[in-house]
Amino acid sequence: MDFAYTAAEEQFRLELRKWLETNLPDGWLDGTFKMPEEQVELGRFLRDWQYKLAEGRWAAIAWPEKHGGRGATLMEEIIYHQEMVRVKAPPLVNYVGLYMVGPTLMQIGTPEQQEKYIPKILSGEEVWCQGYSEPNAGSDLAAVKTTAVKDGDKWIINGQKIWTSFAHFADRCFLVARTSKGEKKHAGITCFLLDMNQPGVEVRPIIQMDGDHDFNEVYLNDAVAYDTDIIGQLDDGWRVTIALLMHERTGIGAQVFSLEQQFEGLVELAQTVTEDGTPIIEKADVRKRLLDLYMKSRGSLLNYYRNLTKQLKVGHPGVEGSMDKLFVSEVTKELFAESVSLQGHQGVLWKDDAIFGESYWQKNYLYSFGQTIGGGTSEIQKNTIAERLLGLPKDVGR
Ligand SMILES: Cc1cc2nc3c(=O)[nH]c(=O)nc-3n(C[C@H](O)[C@H](O)[C@H](O)COP(=O)(O)OP(=O)(O)OC[C@H]3O[C@@H](n4cnc5c(N)ncnc54)[C@H](O)[C@@H]3O)c2cc1C
Repeated sequence: MDFAYTAAEEQFRLELRKWLETNLPDGWLDGTFKMPEEQVELGRFLRDWQYKLAEGRWAAIAWPEKHGGRGATLMEEIIYHQEMVRVKAPPLVNYVGLYMVGPTLMQIGTPEQQEKYIPKILSGEEVWCQGYSEPNAGSDLAAVKTTAVKDGDKWIINGQKIWTSFAHFADRCFLVARTSKGEKKHAGITCFLLDMNQPGVEVRPIIQMDGDHDFNEVYLNDAVAYDTDIIGQLDDGWRVTIALLMHERTGIGAQVFSLEQQFEGLVELAQTVTEDGTPIIEKADVRKRLLDLYMKSRGSLLNYYRNLTKQLKVGHPGVEGSMDKLFVSEVTKELFAESVSLQGHQGVLWKDDAIFGESYWQKNYLYSFGQTIGGGTSEIQKNTIAERLLGLPKDVGR
């Protein structure tokens, strides 16, 4: 593909840039804006931001126009990510809805489900979470034990989910449950579009090692769903589960644009930190490590472009998303480890004590470990690439 931008694409960039300048919260661009720390206030702020994006048709530009998107081209999507990263735009509280559930509903959902859920996903009126992992079912997702049992016109759901990101903000959950005991463990699974605002759903926070609260445990005690809440076919939910995962991995791969910007920040850091009065960027070993990271982040970006080009041709994400997810998360981890190491003994300082960037580097270093786990661990991505892209024999024991 041709990576040069046309005049129309540059115009698209300017339109978005102008919209961001007008609509970002006061103080956002000059760095004086302070994010609310209290969870309810934070949730409200993030929902308002998504509503604003949706109003401007900037919430899900790749979606078709009939669903409130712009039917954006591949190049427009790239420009969009670049601009959002450039202004460090507020995070999307309904990331799961916009990048995972919405596209899966368009691919597999019934017209009624699309009509009921998609507009509210776009506006942020209904925030979604993903109820896949359980205490004994993560990489081996088909081992889920949460059950859904038919009782008259209802499904009664019992079990426990874990690591459920944004469940404390969520109104709906894309839930994987066991509806029958098939001969093979991948059979007998069904996906439900579960209402989180009901007495049978209890959300308990898990605090991460950086002190933030992004994910949760979710306890399901006689939670209720209906036939109309089933997405795909009864007992054939594995296919649906995987379709959503493909969208998830491709979405995570788009973090490659943040990686470019983080690399630039790392170079600035190496120019700022000094040793015996000399910026450490002057040291040959530091330059060599920076060059190595530059090649890896550039390689991740080009690979991402290559995979997007294929996606554009076939119309939906493929297994190549595993490559993007693997590279981006591993290079991000390496980059932040380097950023802490460059700071020498000052690298261990935290929050107000940190010398550089209010512990931006330390915080992201701690967070980066989770990025190689969430959305499927690096080992699982490697297995997928080996088996499904390279045609190697199946993982022993599966
Ligand atoms: C930041 C973050 C956000 C998350 N958000 C969500 C969410 O919103 N919803 C949700 O459902 N889940 C979420 N998760 C959970 C995530 O999907 C699981 O943690 C992940 O799939 C791994 O499962 P596990 O933790 O049970 O580890 P395990 O599967 O028990 O794995 C333990 C270790 O064994 C390795 N391993 C396992 N099987 C194999 C194999 N076959 N070959 C080689 N190595 C193997 C793994 O790579 C890992 O190193 C999130 C996790 C994180 C870190």
